[in-house]
Amino acid sequence: MNAEPFQIRGQLLRDEPMNRHTSLKVGGPADLFAIPEDAEDLQGLLACLQEQRIPWITIGRGYNLLVRDGGIRGAVISLERFNRITLIADTQILAEAGAENLAMVRFAQQRGLGGIGFISGIPGTIGGAIRMNAGAYGQGILEHTECLTLLRDGLVRTFCMSDLQYGYRHLHLEAGDIVLAAQFNLHEREAQHTEEEIRKDTELRRSKHNVGFPSAGSFFKNPNGQASWRLIDAAGMRGVRVGGAQVSEQHSNFLVNTGNATAADFLQLAKTVKNAVFATSGVTLEEEVRIVGDV
Ligand SMILES: Cc1cc2nc3c(=O)[nH]c(=O)nc-3n(C[C@H](O)[C@H](O)[C@H](O)COP(=O)(O)OP(=O)(O)OC[C@H]3O[C@@H](n4cnc5c(N)ncnc54)[C@H](O)[C@@H]3O)c2cc1C
Repeated sequence: MNAEPFQIRGQLLRDEPMNRHTSLKVGGPADLFAIPEDAEDLQGLLACLQEQRIPWITIGRGYNLLVRDGGIRGAVISLERFNRITLIADTQILAEAGAENLAMVRFAQQRGLGGIGFISGIPGTIGGAIRMNAGAYGQGILEHTECLTLLRDGLVRTFCMSDLQYGYRHLHLEAGDIVLAAQFNLHEREAQHTEEEIRKDTELRRSKHNVGFPSAGSFFKNPNGQASWRLIDAAGMRGVRVGGAQVSEQHSNFLVNTGNATAADFLQLAKTVKNAVFATSGVTLEEEVRIVGDV
């Protein structure tokens, strides 16, 4: 990429290996990896990127991201410095996109608020959770969201959830939209109640998700009323490997990096699993993990 040199007040890295920023630990370099300091810095960065026609994507902590081995031509923007959480009314909380899910649950708990404890164990940021409509136990974060602050076409705009379309692990946004913050309307809840919710979730995840290797959580969405792991098991795919990527022995909807996997290994393994599931059940699995970058 022959970008004109430009600067931001935050941090700007070049040729940054994306395996450092994804939980699957694979992915080639991003031409630019930008960590803007604040909204003004972000807007300045976007103006430069647009002027030079450099494409960009925004990431959270990379817990749901598979970056191909060729890396990312353009810029990756991390909002990790946008991590403030504020109480804006008796039961309303505003969380910036880079805040961790657990930090938001703890912030609410300390103010006697709750109702969103199910996100406490989902690794990642509020921005990533909103974008994915992350959820657990039949609930998604967007059901509990009042409105979103988006950066769209260079302007900061607020959208009520009633103006947006969303569903299971899905939020419809326009290309280039950046989630800056989300507002939640919570309920009064004793701190002890939330503590119990977090404890149960931690225990459950320890028993189900402790797969011993890097993963991105569930690799495939659950198709209409069916569990992907059951379909994958029925297709005989548990434990199957391609290079360093493997269908976890512990949880067959987790594809894991056993040590030296490449993104190509994961893509080939995902294809093998999808073909086997289709052949045995007629169901086409859809990736929950976001796949980006060049081959
Ligand atoms: C062990 C394990 C368990 C998991 N359990 C669950 C679970 O129970 N439920 C669940 O739903 N998920 C689960 N996941 C997946 C993952 O934690 C979630 O999808 C999480 O919300 C990703 O957050 P992130 O900040 O890492 O986002 P990233 O992976 O960095 O990004 C995810 C997507 O959101 C986009 N994005 C990120 N931030 C922004 C922003 N500010 N504006 C616009 N777009 C943005 C990215 O471009 C990408 O498309 C699990 C993962 C692991 C590793």
